[in-house]
Amino acid sequence: MPALVTIGLLLAAGALFMACSCTRPAPGPTRNPTTTVTTTVTVQQVKSLSREEVSRMLARVENSPEPQSRMGAMCYEMAMPPDRAEYVCPVCGEKTLYTSGAAQVVEWDLPSCRREFEQLQKASSMQVSLDESGFCHKCQPHGTPQLVLTLTYADSTTRRIAPVGAQDLRLLAGFFSGKLSYETFNEGEEPLKGSTDRLKEILGL
Ligand SMILES: [Zn+2]
Repeated sequence: MPALVTIGLLLAAGALFMACSCTRPAPGPTRNPTTTVTTTVTVQQVKSLSREEVSRMLARVENSPEPQSRMGAMCYEMAMPPDRAEYVCPVCGEKTLYTSGAAQVVEWDLPSCRREFEQLQKASSMQVSLDESGFCHKCQPHGTPQLVLTLTYADSTTRRIAPVGAQDLRLLAGFFSGKLSYETFNEGEEPLKGSTDRLKEILGL
């Protein structure tokens, strides 16, 4: 039987939510990280970018003229946020029931984050992983339902940051593909320059 987990603090419940009718529901607002941990691992050396290379890429974003924004699609319709959602763990298959604001995270944000993460993996030679086991009451009985992103640098040191949202993953996809802008949720383009503080935080620079 799915456990009932009620968490209302991730997103305010009950508010009407803007969704794009021609693509998928818009993601929720980016949340600030509450925990960051940097650890050293001893796994086999994998090909990735070094901190120096990533720092150079970030300096390029900061020192280049800001590219023009491009407006995204504006085909919005009002959508009610779900008041309950069942999380099905892709690892163990167990179901965890969420209600209130967390239901919106599971129903809307999580699928969006999975898609954005795929884009990030394609865009990047950086080693990245996304851990959603905190949403599963079996894999992490006392876990926090949040996404944990891990970046592994060329020297095998890792950067773990949580929570991350779809907006963070979009920023990183733009950044690691070597662009000065990133694609917004509604297929617009925004300069990365306005988001370098968040990028530094995620990258641990
Ligand atoms: Zn699980």
